[in-house]
Amino acid sequence: MIKRSFFALTKPRMTYQPIELTPPEPKKIPMPKQATLLLNEPYDAFGQKKSAQLKKGDPVKTGQKLSLYEGSDAYVVSSVTGTISSISPFIGDYGRSYSAISIDVSENEEIDEHFSALVKEPTLETVKNWMAFIPGNLPSVIFSPDQLSTPIDTIVICGVDRDLLITISQHTVVKEGKAIKRGVQILRQTTGIDNIIMASPENLMQDAGLSGAEVRVVDPVYPASLPHLIMRDLLGRVVPAGKSCEDLGVAFISVEAVASLGKAFNEGRIPVYKRLNLIKKDGTSALVSARVGTPVRDIFATFDISVNEKDRIIFGGPMTGASIYSENHPIQPDTDALMIQDHKDLALVSDYPCINCGECIPICPAKIQVNMLVRFLEAGKYQEAADEYDLYSCIECGLCSFVCVSRIPILQYIKLATYELGRISTAEETNV
Ligand code: SF4
Ligand code: SF4
Repeated sequence: MIKRSFFALTKPRMTYQPIELTPPEPKKIPMPKQATLLLNEPYDAFGQKKSAQLKKGDPVKTGQKLSLYEGSDAYVVSSVTGTISSISPFIGDYGRSYSAISIDVSENEEIDEHFSALVKEPTLETVKNWMAFIPGNLPSVIFSPDQLSTPIDTIVICGVDRDLLITISQHTVVKEGKAIKRGVQILRQTTGIDNIIMASPENLMQDAGLSGAEVRVVDPVYPASLPHLIMRDLLGRVVPAGKSCEDLGVAFISVEAVASLGKAFNEGRIPVYKRLNLIKKDGTSALVSARVGTPVRDIFATFDISVNEKDRIIFGGPMTGASIYSENHPIQPDTDALMIQDHKDLALVSDYPCINCGECIPICPAKIQVNMLVRFLEAGKYQEAADEYDLYSCIECGLCSFVCVSRIPILQYIKLATYELGRISTAEETNV
């Protein structure tokens, strides 16, 4: 079995988008007529296994916690006030199952006050029970220590953006200093973890330093901001293949989530606006602020962007983003970028076979023999890909897909394979 670490990294030459010296305020998208919240729990269409607590016609308030099934820990927090118009199954990337809760938005906003009664004394329980849906996405590993085999001893706040053309983390570092500082205090207080590090671009060190976290500088060249490389370069810890950063006691959290945490406890209200970069057809970009759950159609309408047949809509950046297939798709708490590409400019994927040009090998930061790996992935031989060709060493940077002359969607194959293997392993554990 070949298991490589990330020691022999090469350096591709694409640099992250630096933020302007005086960044603009984001353009606020008007309140949507309908918002859709995606609950991370499969929809029980026939009501055979679970009894539903929500139904069509139920009124909801902004900031209200919505849990679909009795006894379930999964919840969303409503970003709008209105009436539930439908609850339905929703299939996300790679077949992941969600429940979509759609809400017809009312003109008169009402705020649910249950959370505000809890802000005086922040506790782990309050954070766990109310913060799972905040903008920036709070990773549950930090607040569910009982689920981990290795206790978390270090939290890394990502003040750097994970993909090219995205500036959301940098914008948050510059604009949300007070909220970030409070968020760091709450992280320390509720988790008992003292070692909190902010990974920052060099130009934002001063702003990042106000957070109360220890600041370390990330190289400006992609993919240095990905967690495995931050582990190696900033913490001096190499994540072995098949292990996660959490297995080594390190949890990663976006700086936007830390700011949302701070804001929630400062103001007694759970933040409901998500910032994102809109990357338009001509390659220009705009900073946007929209309620979580806003359909992407509303954002395009605000900027007079028409979506034509075969145009491509992508959530995320150019290296690691994933296509979405409907303008009704809602903005999620972790949507950092919305990109639209004109069909005439698309670099189409193809069904050409690998021609063994070798371009993908020197550019792979994990030194995987990608040309061999891809053969197994295309054939659906995922376990062999993991056992013999380092599937689990992949850090999902997308550089191989970017350079592939045959336009093979290698990263998508890799993500599908790891998702499928994870699903099989969970099913096996459940059936033991
Ligand atoms: S996405 Fe491709 S280039 Fe990046 S680590 Fe994985 S195999 Fe290597
Ligand atoms: S870049 Fe594409 S065509 Fe070239 S060796 Fe890698 S997978 Fe094959």
